[in-house]
Amino acid sequence: MTTDLTRTTAADLADLLAQGSVSAREVTQAHLDRTAAVDGAVHSYLHVDAEGALAQADDVDRRRAAGESLHAMAGVPIAVKDVMTTRGLPTTCGSKILQGWVPPYDATLVTRLREAGMPILGKTNMDEFAMGSSTEHSAYGPSHNPWDLERIPGGSGGGSSSVVASFQAPLAIGTDTGGSIRQPAAVTGTVGTKPTYGGVSRYGLVALASSLDQAGPCTRTVLDAALLHEVIGGHDPLDSTSIDAPVPPVVEAARRADVAGMKIGIIRELTGDGFQAGVQARFDEAVQHLVDAGAEVVEVSCPSFSYALAAYYLILPSEASSNLAKFDAMRYGLRVAPDGIDAPSAEQVMAATRDAGFGDEVKRRIILGTYALSSGYYDAYYGSAQKVRRLIADDFAAAFETADVLVSPTAPTTAFKLGDKLDDPMAMYLNDIATIPANLAGIPGMSVPSGVATEDGLPAGFQILAPAMQDQRLYAVGAALEVRLTAAWGGPLLDRAPDLLGNVRQDGRLGSQGAGRNAGTEA
Ligand code: GLN
Repeated sequence: MTTDLTRTTAADLADLLAQGSVSAREVTQAHLDRTAAVDGAVHSYLHVDAEGALAQADDVDRRRAAGESLHAMAGVPIAVKDVMTTRGLPTTCGSKILQGWVPPYDATLVTRLREAGMPILGKTNMDEFAMGSSTEHSAYGPSHNPWDLERIPGGSGGGSSSVVASFQAPLAIGTDTGGSIRQPAAVTGTVGTKPTYGGVSRYGLVALASSLDQAGPCTRTVLDAALLHEVIGGHDPLDSTSIDAPVPPVVEAARRADVAGMKIGIIRELTGDGFQAGVQARFDEAVQHLVDAGAEVVEVSCPSFSYALAAYYLILPSEASSNLAKFDAMRYGLRVAPDGIDAPSAEQVMAATRDAGFGDEVKRRIILGTYALSSGYYDAYYGSAQKVRRLIADDFAAAFETADVLVSPTAPTTAFKLGDKLDDPMAMYLNDIATIPANLAGIPGMSVPSGVATEDGLPAGFQILAPAMQDQRLYAVGAALEVRLTAAWGGPLLDRAPDLLGNVRQDGRLGSQGAGRNAGTEA
């Protein structure tokens, strides 16, 4: 077991803490030190709460010393996406409109982390209101990919993917509305899990699209994801869409890593054309590993998936335009007085505030959603999109008749360069072509690293999808793949990422070349 606490998995940290070989303060301080050293370059965090995290750690150490029986994860620190409310800690959703807002309450998920004794290190960067695939839509500047600081760490949860990929936190929370946990995981060589819709409480998750949003784990291993899933999952009376059933047996599935006899369905529409050669090659090899582990492979067809992106970009903006109407300058954050008006009306203040407080992508989607919901267009746009949503759920249901899980590459390409797609919304939207169907159907999905693409040396992701409330199947397949791939690589994939410390200038800014990748790393 490695002695560098920041390179230790959450599962191993939990063991070390329980044995008393290390204190929660030491573990927390090690991660805060790492952040001080590298986050000037990576920019995973919008807000670091060193004092609060150390106080929580000390509390755990005190209780352990007093002989209290603690949660198995007590003392394992975590970073939380800035879209979850945290009492006493700023929550901006990556937007200027919430700058300075400090919520008076915790999201249920945050309450569960606190009750488990998991110190909260800080709040991670994200595209504004979780709209985007690169974190470039954050009002506070983008996060960077630890594999190559000139590239995107995915989005919207690029802060949560990069924070675990750069060893600043063993665990993070993300949210996935159309892929914002899975796509960032794919491009950073980490594990991202979107539980079944309703499997983790949305209370205190600042809503983007309420029928699609789902919070979940961002981790470096499948077992760590399962351990975190168990802490945050389960019924919550404060969320009317929360499923009233026990958390699926995810930890057991992750530990057993058994796929013998399982039927794996390759989604024909989500492979081949349109996927980068190296991403597709790693996917094909991963499938072969699962066959070697005793799984059976079948091909399935989901013809309605070709309409998924179009349906998503009507349903999401429609719900977002309604959810974001509450940012009216009266109740939260920013208030801007319009120029040159002596006694402005409430409407004029709202207009000036929204103009200054929302970025371009948020405005684009509010306008689109308002249009799609307007009388006369409702049936043509929103109504049609809902019908497509049903067809997609039907495609999944049919596919799950022949396969236990479905698989595809998580994202069509590896991480692209910052700036490359910023002015082309359609190109940005296409990143989520493989992840969006799961959100429309409410089913769980996971991305695990499949290796690095030969042509650019950057990580690729393997997506696993399961029927609703069968989340444990993701963990069985993800863990089986992880065991075999880690053996083939001779260690975790992230061991091949550059050592950021050698590439960070004294002032914490990027070196002139960024952190160059290790050329010649092949999976
Ligand atoms: N990238 C997708 C979007 O921009 C997904 C966002 C998300 O999952 N929050 O909508």
